[in-house]
Amino acid sequence: MGSVLSVYNIGFEKGTDEWVLNMNLYDAYNDFRSETPMSYNVNGSFGNTLIHELGHILTLNTANQVAETTTSATSSSCTTFYDEAFGCMEADAVFTSSSTAYYQGQELIEPEFVTTYAETNISEDIAETFMYYVAQETVPTTDAFSSGGLFKINFIKNNKWLSPFKSLSNEIHTDLESSEGALTFKTQHRHRHRTHCLPDPKTLKAAGLAWQ
Ligand SMILES: [Zn+2]
Repeated sequence: MGSVLSVYNIGFEKGTDEWVLNMNLYDAYNDFRSETPMSYNVNGSFGNTLIHELGHILTLNTANQVAETTTSATSSSCTTFYDEAFGCMEADAVFTSSSTAYYQGQELIEPEFVTTYAETNISEDIAETFMYYVAQETVPTTDAFSSGGLFKINFIKNNKWLSPFKSLSNEIHTDLESSEGALTFKTQHRHRHRTHCLPDPKTLKAAGLAWQ
């Protein structure tokens, strides 16, 4: 598949936020499962991807998430959460609290992830779960038997940095099949590979794509 979906921060090295969003319009007019043409934004796939990419920007910006970028921080000096590509996170950053809640060897009931793509790494897990949070009309509350995926959706719902963006759902919800539950949607629709979703800033620099 020829899709290229990505966000990157060309202000990264300066510690500022100058985010660029790349999306191939191919994805708005082609079914990613069958790779055949479709009407615009069937099942809300284009809007979903936009929200996914926004999830990266909201959780990897230097304004309130990344405390020290990889240009100044090291993994050993970081006492919160260190991301190899972006650096040392703030104590109350989404990465820090998500890692503490779900990536310390906790036993989670399956499905642990809202989509197959969310299994890629913590960054894609957060972005995919944020997409789910925004797209769902309502988010079921959790109990002792709830899946890890539902716990993560509720984590987003209750996170001070991400929760306010629920208001976006009224604008992007139009074509989602709203009768489907939060986790049944997974098995039916999400098997996409966003191979270039979030380029490593160092890779981008090496490729001459940033800081020109
Ligand atoms: Zn992504």
